[in-house]
Amino acid sequence: MPETPETALVLFSGGQDSATCLAWSLDRYARVETVGFDYGQRHRVELACRDVFLERLAAAFPGWAARLGPDHLLDAAVLKSLGQTAMTEDVEIEMQANGLPSTFVPGRNLLFFTLAGALAVRRGASVLVGGMCETDYSGYPDCRAVTLMAQEKTLQLGLEADLIIEAPLMHIDKAATWALADSLGGDPLVDLITEHTHTCYLGDRTHRHSWGYGCGTCPACELRSSGWSRWQGAR
Ligand code: ZN
Repeated sequence: MPETPETALVLFSGGQDSATCLAWSLDRYARVETVGFDYGQRHRVELACRDVFLERLAAAFPGWAARLGPDHLLDAAVLKSLGQTAMTEDVEIEMQANGLPSTFVPGRNLLFFTLAGALAVRRGASVLVGGMCETDYSGYPDCRAVTLMAQEKTLQLGLEADLIIEAPLMHIDKAATWALADSLGGDPLVDLITEHTHTCYLGDRTHRHSWGYGCGTCPACELRSSGWSRWQGAR
């Protein structure tokens, strides 16, 4: 039985981290819904992975399927209109003069949480769950715990809602994220995450590694693969 009777809304991108958070939520909450965002991302493969992962997850884990409610896909294309990031345009992945990588999409998580908060109120959800992490991450300021704590307060005040943000991966590294998936759903879940989630910044689904698909060299692939190797080494 779940630990709490609440409904959680999981920010589910189709990547490894949010997929793990989805399993974490299904293990914990009585009802779980998912929300994704179409923000004009260059590589649509991540959105395609969402549907397949949800379908396979429900098929493999009937107990979780009973708690899994509808998936919501929201239009956040206004982010693309702001342009000039490596996630939305053909821009080199590099460190910028401001100390942030070009893969950082300014305002992305701030907007996502605002939209998710509004949707949560509509859906009667009291918990927002996100896969943000500040342990071994890309340095995005909107993935830090302090940012999420401030945004949680903003949502509580601005929506007049008892809404909390949970970020179960915030203080663990990528090896521990694989270990968490293993502890929640064993090999079936690890296999689903490996095969049907997407992390690679270049949208590469042609190269299959032990840790999943990707170019193997972009910052996102490096985080995912090094976490996998450390987890495998520690098993
Ligand atoms: Zn890659």
